[in-house]
Amino acid sequence: MKFRNFKTVPKMIFGRGSFDQLDDVLADERSSMDDFVVFLVDQVHKDKPLGQRIPATDKDMIIWLDVTDEPKTIYVDALTEEVQEYAAANNNGKNPVSVVGLGGGSALDLGKAVALMLTNEGGSASYQGWDLIKNPAVHHIGIPTISGTGAEASRTTVLTGPDKKLGMNSDYTVYDQIIMDPDLLQGVPRDQWFYTGMDCYIHNIEALNGTYINEFARAFGEKSLDLCNEVFLQDHPDSDEKLMMASYMGGQSIAYSQVGACHALSYGLSYVMGYHHGIGNCIAFDVLDDFYPEGVKVFREMMKKHNITLPKGITKDLSEEDMDKMIRTASGLAPLWENVYGADWQEKVTPELLRDLYSKM
Ligand code: NAD
Ligand code: ZN
Repeated sequence: MKFRNFKTVPKMIFGRGSFDQLDDVLADERSSMDDFVVFLVDQVHKDKPLGQRIPATDKDMIIWLDVTDEPKTIYVDALTEEVQEYAAANNNGKNPVSVVGLGGGSALDLGKAVALMLTNEGGSASYQGWDLIKNPAVHHIGIPTISGTGAEASRTTVLTGPDKKLGMNSDYTVYDQIIMDPDLLQGVPRDQWFYTGMDCYIHNIEALNGTYINEFARAFGEKSLDLCNEVFLQDHPDSDEKLMMASYMGGQSIAYSQVGACHALSYGLSYVMGYHHGIGNCIAFDVLDDFYPEGVKVFREMMKKHNITLPKGITKDLSEEDMDKMIRTASGLAPLWENVYGADWQEKVTPELLRDLYSKM
């Protein structure tokens, strides 16, 4: 057996107000007069106080990100080109000294992806997979403004490409620095706060109940789950701090284990029906009583407490062709199902089972 040699984020700052230290962190990267930094910022922050606090010099580039759709390879390639054109015009074609991703999982993934594509030739679609990236990325910094995905901690950037939704998974993908400032969670719409937070809760349930579990993943997963319970069942006064740490630790947990049935189904919903990751997970998790009875029970208590109602009957008008595509997408995620059922998962994960689950959503 070979064990995973797992790269983690080497530098991190945590605490309310720590966003103000971004300027100091960047000062360490800037060495010559012409050096510039690229800020990839969720445009939701553009006219908000946070947008005004970005420590950009007049040499730097701020790109406001459209995250209406979850990140696509064509968007990554267009952003990369924009940065390259700017570098050609202003810095003899020299890459930025740092790329900062500021926002939710979408912005964090775009930050990672652009940092990678600035040093790796060809389109991002050709790197969707495991360890296909050849060259180290430009220095990159991740700063979450909504918590749950664990994208700040993970070695992937999830992209929808021409023929699949799959991450660019590599050691180079991992952020060089993250800044976790709970103040930045202010202003997140309540429903979205819940959906993205549940991504973290579900990561933990899937990891802790999976066949891949080990003490490393359990240590992070159990603590992260405790924090989720405090946030979503008890309305703890330090909820922002707790959710931010839960997200990071949930990311660490699945990095050394795996997600499961909910994520497999949710990938299908997202690829075929365009559901975003957080809400897609919630819709899928709500039909998984047989897989995660206790986890689903507590999830429903959390929904009730926060007055969340999920869309129902979403697959009833779906064409046969789309249903098949969704089933194929979900059943193609071998490691996730192996984490659910073990080595003989293929006997269990039949098209009938998946059709039945999708029909209940
Ligand atoms: P998101 O980044 O798409 O953001 C959701 C919404 O919240 C957006 O409308 C955004 O503008 C808004 N928002 C974010 N911060 C805000 C703030 N402070 N105030 C007001 N509004 C704010 O959502 P997400 O759930 O964080 O991320 C989902 C994405 O993350 C998906 O693309 C998914 O594939 C990806 N993901 C990546 C990983 C990974 O390890 N790389 C893991 C899980 C999910
Ligand atoms: Zn997830």
